[in-house]
Amino acid sequence: MAASLITRVNLALQRLDHAIAAFFNKGFPPDGFCIAATNSEVYPQPPSNNITINDIIGDGFLWAVPRNRRTIEKRWKRRFGHPDYVLKILLPRKNLRVCNVCGDDHEVGVLCPTCYKKVIDETKEMQDAIQNELRLSPVEKEVVVLYDGEKNEKPSEYWQGKRVVEMKKSRPAWFSKNLLQQTTQQPATTTDVKPSDLG
Ligand SMILES: [Zn+2]
Repeated sequence: MAASLITRVNLALQRLDHAIAAFFNKGFPPDGFCIAATNSEVYPQPPSNNITINDIIGDGFLWAVPRNRRTIEKRWKRRFGHPDYVLKILLPRKNLRVCNVCGDDHEVGVLCPTCYKKVIDETKEMQDAIQNELRLSPVEKEVVVLYDGEKNEKPSEYWQGKRVVEMKKSRPAWFSKNLLQQTTQQPATTTDVKPSDLG
């Protein structure tokens, strides 16, 4: 009897102690206060059985999902393409060749871009030299572009009646002098190919 009374008093003191501590913001509130502090906004009620699609997605959206199975052929065709139409996979290039002069790679049937860049730059230099030499005067005579030292190879009478433009540098090794010589041959009438470089 005495032990039960002591236990009851002890329990009552503990509750009072908890209530006082909670009142001064020390420790957790007692169980009674915990239930009282439950807020429906902080702790939303579990959804009821009447769930609609709007309750789940709200303002969001759903991704499209396939409704029918696609065959493996169609899936592979969409992923890798088709060899007769559009092929999406990478294939090795077989139409590349190595330039004999500079060693760069280029497509078959296309001039080597590295070598052709030299021709473009040289042509631009020649055009600038011609423009600086002739200015705005009309071109009434044949214009000959000569490199350093080439004017002395021919007699001065040879250059009579020609507008000579001299470049202030030596001729590049790859720029053949034959390109400037006008041909005297008549156009061929046959399609036979003459052998050349036979020694
Ligand atoms: Zn090249």
